[in-house]
Amino acid sequence: NHKPGLVEHTVGWPLDKNTYGGSFIYHLKVEEGESPLVAAGFVVGLDYSNPYLSPFREFQKFKTHPYIRPMFEGGSRIAYGARALVEGGWQCLPVPVFPGGVLAGDSAGFLNVPRIKGTHNAMKSGMLAAEAAMDLIISGEATHEKGVVPTQYEEKLKESYVYKELKQVRNCRPSFHTSLGLYGGVAYSAFSTLMRGKEPWTLSHGGADHARLKPAKECQPIEYPKPDGVITFDLLSSVALTGTNHEADQPAHLTLKDDTVPVKQNLGVYDGPEARFCPAGVYEFVPMESGDGQRLQINAQNCIHCKTCDIKDPSQNINWVVPEGGGGPAYNGM
Ligand SMILES: Cc1cc2nc3c(=O)[nH]c(=O)nc-3n(C[C@H](O)[C@H](O)[C@H](O)COP(=O)(O)OP(=O)(O)OC[C@H]3O[C@@H](n4cnc5c(N)ncnc54)[C@H](O)[C@@H]3O)c2cc1C
Ligand code: SF4
Repeated sequence: NHKPGLVEHTVGWPLDKNTYGGSFIYHLKVEEGESPLVAAGFVVGLDYSNPYLSPFREFQKFKTHPYIRPMFEGGSRIAYGARALVEGGWQCLPVPVFPGGVLAGDSAGFLNVPRIKGTHNAMKSGMLAAEAAMDLIISGEATHEKGVVPTQYEEKLKESYVYKELKQVRNCRPSFHTSLGLYGGVAYSAFSTLMRGKEPWTLSHGGADHARLKPAKECQPIEYPKPDGVITFDLLSSVALTGTNHEADQPAHLTLKDDTVPVKQNLGVYDGPEARFCPAGVYEFVPMESGDGQRLQINAQNCIHCKTCDIKDPSQNINWVVPEGGGGPAYNGM
């Protein structure tokens, strides 16, 4: 089933029509005699509303589709990883300069969402940042004493294809937010692409992703297949493949602003979505030692730095800070 060079994308299934997402499957070219290699993944828009959704388990379910399953049969799972994509686009671009520094690439949100491409914009913004720094050095404005705000960088970005391209596709992602969901989004995106983004309006994302989660009582639990260890896998054996590691005695990089919120708010209202949206099983609701209710256990050493909890925690109570250098996933070949 391996066709070197083949790239396949799907939208929708197993997601419902109101949840943005789809898959990518890359059949990698390998040297003669080497085992065939496929890189596959599943994107789930973090603006989903059902707290029972698990992005990891959606991916496992996706692999059971009759068209997809044969591709993986007889193969071995050799790697696993996860990260958040920056999907805000043009409407959400931050001021990309500050004293002594700039934001470039994905950290500034330069991903072209409909194309799922950001490498070119990351490279271009890095080049423009270097040009702006050089301008400051040549003009003598850069000093050792104080951080200069490299405003030239923002001006260069506005003139570059980075901003032009992001503006052109600005309405595609928010167009998935109507009651027509996936169908409305695909139809509008086709129209907007034909228009080259020249519509005289800009659609709004309509709010933060964490605010879109609905209370559990308004939603249906989602059925996922039990892992068979062949095509579908459990979370913890997948996380083991990330090689993630953190020094045991470092300060916690995942803390809670208020320890009572996870049980009272997240578990009480949303049925503990952090136990499902984290792709590394970091958050677990476990029984209290007293036998009276549950508490949230944070397995911070498993964290693979995807930043989903920072974005999707409905109470915005999780404080993710950068851990000590060297910690985190040790991806190989990803
Ligand atoms: C699944 C997936 C598929 C994609 N497919 C494509 C595609 O086909 N084509 C395309 O053009 N784009 C694609 N993209 C987007 C592309 O990967 C990004 O836009 C691009 O990598 C952004 O580059 P960057 O340098 O800004 O950030 P990154 O590539 O994310 O680099 C940031 C680096 O900083 C490191 N880092 C983070 N924190 C610290 C710290 N505290 N100290 C030191 N280092 C740190 C990270 O380990 C990482 O190496 C894809 C993204 C994903 C997730
Ligand atoms: S704890 Fe947060 S950042 Fe770490 S893997 Fe889980 S969701 Fe991602």
